[in-house]
Amino acid sequence: MNVVFSYGMGANGTAALLRLLFEPATRPPELADDLSNLIVITAQTGDEFLDTAVMVEQHIYPLLAARRVRTVQVARAGHYERDGIVVLDDTREPILCLTSGAYALLEEMTSTATVPQSKDRKHSQKFKGWVIDQWLKTNIGDEPYLHVMGYDVSEPDRVAGDLALGLPNKIPWYPLVDWGWDWDACERYIFARLGVRWKRSHCVECPFAFSVTKGGRARTIPRLLAHPHQAMDALTMEYLAVACNPKQGLIAGKEQLYDLIADWPGGPILLKLFHHHLDAAEWAVYDVQRGFGRKPDDPMKRGQPARSMRPLITGSRTDMLAHLERAAGLLGRRLETDGRHWRVWWRRRGIYFPTVEHLLTAAPALAQHKTNSSFPKLWREGLKATRQLELAI
Ligand code: SF4
Repeated sequence: MNVVFSYGMGANGTAALLRLLFEPATRPPELADDLSNLIVITAQTGDEFLDTAVMVEQHIYPLLAARRVRTVQVARAGHYERDGIVVLDDTREPILCLTSGAYALLEEMTSTATVPQSKDRKHSQKFKGWVIDQWLKTNIGDEPYLHVMGYDVSEPDRVAGDLALGLPNKIPWYPLVDWGWDWDACERYIFARLGVRWKRSHCVECPFAFSVTKGGRARTIPRLLAHPHQAMDALTMEYLAVACNPKQGLIAGKEQLYDLIADWPGGPILLKLFHHHLDAAEWAVYDVQRGFGRKPDDPMKRGQPARSMRPLITGSRTDMLAHLERAAGLLGRRLETDGRHWRVWWRRRGIYFPTVEHLLTAAPALAQHKTNSSFPKLWREGLKATRQLELAI
């Protein structure tokens, strides 16, 4: 039976993989004699920090290559499932960790002017779990396989969630849970084996990486400062999302990455670069409309929202802001700014639902024209609703 090790490149997965490689007694019976039926597979989101790739190339791939372990890297090919996946590498002599992927999560986020949601990990399933499943369908088919995941003993919720995912022929195995290992135990094991402090593996724009309680900010913000090129992408994604919806922000919509960096030692230098980056980008004026439904029997509770977003014109930042100012004059509205973003509010959402909002804004020209299928109905219903007080953002 094949043993498929989902390798996310973090400390948990790295520790579990190292132990299986170095300590044959810890292996499942399927790998007892040799490692020829072990497949180590990574789904690349396209947005991992580059230092993760360096660690994997320096410390893990040589070990896999020395044992001729089949090592596969896959990535999502586009927004739609019909776009399929890209097999970036499939080799028993891995050398390069191809973290740039194919269709990156950042591309998905900027094309829709949004940020990864921290309420759920649906985008993670879209860019990782689903991608790996497609490869398995083609390469393993209906045969049962042992699927090894690096969730540790402190993550029962993630284990429970994982049990419900995947293909019907998957037999899940969580070795770290069996061994009673948590994150610290994994870090210690890696240090003992490799002599390195393993860095967390996650996308540069990962909202979960900024938790206050677990020291996430102290780890992640200096890392962004050390990867200015990648930080530009994360900041641009957030800038565009907030311009189109002031309620957005990378940190659960409550805080913005920009502000966290501004308050960090050395952060203002990075933000100066970011402003140059914005100046050099191509910009667009966007027409953004939202319709909000209501919860049954409670007009104070928001139901499903839907959005229509259209880039109207593109050009330099200066030209787009001039267009926005002209539009404000024509509509008899003010050009409003929060100091970073500029918007002309045509309609503001009301205090109860259904309601609508409509604004013009300017931001980098990365988002595409997109109208949700439920938008026309919600927009009509919101327009028909009783005239009400507008809610100033
Ligand atoms: S943003 Fe975070 S949760 Fe989402 S795919 Fe990347 S690492 Fe996973």
